[in-house]
Amino acid sequence: MCIFCKIVNYEIPATIVYDNDDVIAFRDLHPKAPLHVLIIPKRHISSVNDVVEGDAAALGQLFVAARAVAEAEGVAKSGYRLVMNTGAHAGQTVDHIHLHILAGRAMTWPPG
Ligand code: 5GP
Ligand code: ZN
Repeated sequence: MCIFCKIVNYEIPATIVYDNDDVIAFRDLHPKAPLHVLIIPKRHISSVNDVVEGDAAALGQLFVAARAVAEAEGVAKSGYRLVMNTGAHAGQTVDHIHLHILAGRAMTWPPG
């Protein structure tokens, strides 16, 4: 079982900030911004390369959660960045789809 599936199953600890039937959101272990939360579907999907039609509703829930987290954490107005890395060149290190929400400082563009 992958590390994020273990978080979904509450087998390893995480600071959970949002949790419903489809998705869970928790603070990144190594935050890259004052706010850094990972939002994941509870059902294991390795990467965007594996997404199928039947995943659409659960993946849509990632954005519903992102909005809720941004509002709860007080960054909805100041802004935030949503990132989903896919594969080696993007720097994906955990093979369970996750949407990063980063906020609390000005971001640069383009990303490195
Ligand atoms: P990626 O590089 O795959 O886009 O992002 C993976 C993220 O997961 C990284 O930001 C990393 O800090 C975070 N991460 C890896 N292992 C754990 C863990 O066990 N718990 C938490 N909360 N975050 C983790
Ligand atoms: Zn998984």
